[in-house]
Amino acid sequence: MPMLDLVAQYATIKDDVVSAMMQVVETQQFIMGPAVAQLETEIARLSHAKHGVGCASGTDALLLPLKALNLKPGDEVITTPFTFFATAGTIYNAGAQPVFVDIQPDTFNIDPPAVKRAITPRTRAIMPVHLYGQMADMLEIMAIASRNGIKVIEDAAQSIGARRKMDGEWRMAGELGWVTGYSFFPSKNLGAWGDGGMMVTSDDATADRLKKLRLHGGAAYYTRAFNELSQVTPPTVDPANEHIFHQYTIRAERRDGLQAHLKKEGIGHAVYYPIPLHRQHCFAQLGYRDGSLPEAERASREVLSLPIYPELTRAQLDRVIDAVRGFYR
Ligand SMILES: *Cc1c(COP(=O)(O)O)cnc(C)c1O
Repeated sequence: MPMLDLVAQYATIKDDVVSAMMQVVETQQFIMGPAVAQLETEIARLSHAKHGVGCASGTDALLLPLKALNLKPGDEVITTPFTFFATAGTIYNAGAQPVFVDIQPDTFNIDPPAVKRAITPRTRAIMPVHLYGQMADMLEIMAIASRNGIKVIEDAAQSIGARRKMDGEWRMAGELGWVTGYSFFPSKNLGAWGDGGMMVTSDDATADRLKKLRLHGGAAYYTRAFNELSQVTPPTVDPANEHIFHQYTIRAERRDGLQAHLKKEGIGHAVYYPIPLHRQHCFAQLGYRDGSLPEAERASREVLSLPIYPELTRAQLDRVIDAVRGFYR
């Protein structure tokens, strides 16, 4: 008698899952493709929430909303000690301090009066876990949060589709909190073949922010691809910086040839800046020569800026990457 029999589950859904998976394989749209958008819509609907934002794991589905809070050292997030490690691990990794409060002995879920006693001026959020498949007392928790002007992040990794009657109405996991995280780890109720997660929220601005955080603005996707091309150097981000990628600027071997190739492929690009100011005609009288400022001169020969903006789809990013690869092949 195994603890969980995923083989038996697979046998009951095999045909549906394999045919849906083969459609994804045929289109090769593994990441952020239409199948992801469809699942986001369906899970948001299930949760009575406005937006679903898919991500890499349940852990990321908790970490990203915590990051969106811009937590500072000393900020506190109240949670339960009786949960999977990621609940508190993400609070710590987002830069805050987990504040543990006790659980109810019957449901094993976080105890609202204990949450109330733990509120301090440094409390930024409450992170209840809907443990084992049943929801924590969200009515009480939301009341405490709204009285104190703080956010609730629901850890619903174990409770997708769970609901609770509050003031006579069924409310879903994911419906009331600011952001809710789900996990599609294989052993969870909705398990994937590998890791996966999703956030749901009804706050439009938060959904946009989470979409940026999950893709690092699309720049990480370019950088991962270009790291594999020896002829191209992706932008270096100083570890002390958070880059906002006004431009995504690579250094490229045979830059002018690559530029002509992108033009032929219909892909927008630009060279910022082809002539450094000290070599501009109007400054000739200042006496700088070719080679006076060698790094600026080399940069002007090697740099090429590629399309970068939040609305770029994964398919468009792939077109740009394929065109660059194609030139060097
Ligand atoms: C599984 C789980 C997570 C983490 O989800 P992953 O997809 O494994 O990253 C977080 N919180 C709880 C309560 C979980 O059970």
